[in-house]
Amino acid sequence: MTPLDPVEKLDAMVREQIIARGIKDPRVIEAMKWVPRDRFFPQAIESHAFDDAAAPIGYGQTISQPYIVALMTEALEVQADHRVLEIGTGSGYQTAILSKLTKEVFTIERHKPLLDQAFETLSRLGIRNVRFCFGDGSVGWPAHAPYDRIIITAGTPQVDDRIFAQLAEGGICVAPVGPLDEQSLIQFTKQENRILRKQICGVKFVPLIGEGGWPT
Ligand code: SAH
Repeated sequence: MTPLDPVEKLDAMVREQIIARGIKDPRVIEAMKWVPRDRFFPQAIESHAFDDAAAPIGYGQTISQPYIVALMTEALEVQADHRVLEIGTGSGYQTAILSKLTKEVFTIERHKPLLDQAFETLSRLGIRNVRFCFGDGSVGWPAHAPYDRIIITAGTPQVDDRIFAQLAEGGICVAPVGPLDEQSLIQFTKQENRILRKQICGVKFVPLIGEGGWPT
């Protein structure tokens, strides 16, 4: 048998890891099919790009497992006219998925080399609707608030009030919340200035480090 090419591998990934596990939103499925996941992997481990697992991207950080990216994206309920803030750019893979779903994405990362690499990767893919920021996103990115959607892609003991303050009325925030070794993925909804929370599942993320997260 000839080895599968990247497009076939990506199709198989979406079929077996995303659709078969219950992700239904057709826009999320389309975006997962469009973004070439292998382009976000360091060359040495590129052959693992379609594995059912998280993977190291340098600086002690990871690119999330495909299913978790899809699950978080679906829970975010992104519409085409939303302004979305992503906290923790990492490889930029989740950023690219979000960029396919809406008109404007803002992403913030505390490791400059990762941010620069993500900027390069997205530019090469022709993605132009993302604004990048180098800094501590654990307290959000107030300059462009309010956001319709906020996604935190690192584990945090709690979601800082300053982040909820940057969420628009009716907005949704998805974040892994809990201790360092295990978190709950939570979907927060802001309604009449109250924050409602819905637990999705258990997850394990690298820590959100900064003023509103874990200490350095
Ligand atoms: N969405 C990413 C996941 C990256 S892992 C991907 O698909 O690749 C989480 C990222 O959050 C790491 O790159 C880490 O450096 C970053 N991070 C941790 N604390 C942060 C903070 N306070 N502000 C911004 N980014 C942070």
